[in-house]
Formats: sequence, structure tokens, C-alpha cells
Amino acid sequence: MQHTNILIISDIEGSSLCRDYESTTFLGRGWPRACLGMSKDVNAVVRALYNAGAREVTVQDFHRTGFNIFPEIIDKRARVVQGYRQGPVPGIGRAHGATGLVMTGMHAPSGADAILAHTLTSRIARLEVNGRLMTEAELFCASLAPFGLVPLFISGCPTACDYAANAIDGLTSFPLHQEIRGSEARAMTWREQMAAAAAAALKSPAGRPFNPKGPFEAKVTLRKGSGEAQKLAARWNLEAHGPQVTIQARDLNRIYLELVRLVYLNRFTQHVLPPGLFLYRIMGRLGLAWIRRQLKNLPPSLR
Ligand SMILES: [Zn+2]
Repeated sequence: MQHTNILIISDIEGSSLCRDYESTTFLGRGWPRACLGMSKDVNAVVRALYNAGAREVTVQDFHRTGFNIFPEIIDKRARVVQGYRQGPVPGIGRAHGATGLVMTGMHAPSGADAILAHTLTSRIARLEVNGRLMTEAELFCASLAPFGLVPLFISGCPTACDYAANAIDGLTSFPLHQEIRGSEARAMTWREQMAAAAAAALKSPAGRPFNPKGPFEAKVTLRKGSGEAQKLAARWNLEAHGPQVTIQARDLNRIYLELVRLVYLNRFTQHVLPPGLFLYRIMGRLGLAWIRRQLKNLPPSLR
């Protein structure tokens, strides 16, 4: 099948100019440059997808506030969505029309021995589902399966690529190795190769929506330990043993929804989500204005 309507979910940790934790933090030292790298990576993919026959491409900025990409860098044919939406797909809302999913800038799961490893939040020290570490990429794919999206491509941390490609049939992966990170000279070549691999994945014959067979049991180990686990488990009527909360569900998408609730919401914020999202969006826009100013002061050799 040739996919022509593509959703790109884009994170920063596995993008070409992201070197360390500071590069991923809101107003952090390396953040402006990491945003620039993330934007260039995404733009290379967007252009390659259109050249390969895509007719519609939507880019979802999916890190922190959801405002990291410079829309002005992205090919005008694509729609860039920033900030988060409510709806059945966490953060995205709905996935109207897209049939193929491309994921860029992905990072390793919580519990993996890899750079910037986390799943959803660093509050989770380790996340195992049915005895295996669970990447965000798999959760994203599961959340989009009800809309029929086929996972086509992943790039980012080699560990993230390995985990996701092992779990998801037909997924093409293109890792970002450590020696590329942070060097625009090396990133330029890598970016074009990565984009070409993403474009080749449009013609995926094997892929189908990612809806693995359940039941599932998630073991969520909280970084802050037993106290935190007990508190969260009590809030949502879950079981906790020591620092670990257990979530059971019949499908992976349900596990994802429960995880989002566990680590991002409380009984209060669950009901005030729309105004909360609005404020978060304002914060995101202010952050983006800040990085634009920072980049103006960056020597051209580093851009
Ligand atoms: Zn991120």
C-alpha cells in the first residue's frame, strides 16, 4: 500500500542537535539549538515524503509544552500542530484521515541503559509491560491503531529504534548514533539519509495498525519510591507494591490512557483540563519566542 496522508509525531530527545538533558528542558541552555535540529530533521522528512508522493502531511510537535518546532522552517505544504489536544488519542485528540505514522526524535524507554531514557516522564524509573520495557513509540502506535494508522517509520535513539522495531511488524527504523549528535556538519548528511529512509517506508507492504494481543500488565516503578507509588495507586484505585504500581488492561491503548492519568493528572486537573491546556499553550508560545531570540545570538557556525 502506498500511503499518501501521513502523521509525523516528533520528539526532541532523539533529534540531531540534542546533546544532553539541558537540550530538552524548557528554557534550558542547549534547548534553542536542539529545537533548530528537530525542526531541520522534521523538514527533511516532510520534503522527502512529499517528493515520494505524499499528498497531506501533518506534523505534531510532541515534546514538553508541544512548542519546539519553528513552523517557518517546515515546508509550507505541511500542517504543523503545536500544543496538545483533548480527545481519544492522548495529546493529539483525533487523527483525521492519516493512514501512515512516522515518528522522529524518539528516545529509549524508562529503565533502559541509554541516553535520555524515559517513558512519558522521568518520574517513571522503569516501565515494563508483560515483562518487557515499553517505549513511547509503541504507546503512540497503539493509541492511533483505532484510527487505522499504520506505523511506518521511527528515527531517534538506537535503543528506541531497536525496541520499537522488535515489537512492531513492518516498522522501518533509522537510528541516530551518538557521534552524530550535536554536530550540524554530521547531522546534515544523516538527516538526508534518514529522510530518504522515511520516504521509502511510505510503500510499506507489511504494515498494519499496532494492536497487539492482550491482556497486558504494566509495572510502573516510580523514581520517588514507595510513598509516591502508594499515593498514586490510592488516587486511581490501583495496586502498589513498594515503589511499583500495577496497571492491568485488555489492550495496550488502555494501558497508555491509564499511564497518562497516573502520571499527569489528579482528580482535580482531570476536570479542568481544557483551561490547563490553554495556559500550557501560552507558556509554549512564550518559550518559542524566547528560543527565536536566543538563536539570533548564536554564531552562524553553530546554527
Ligand atoms: Zn520529549
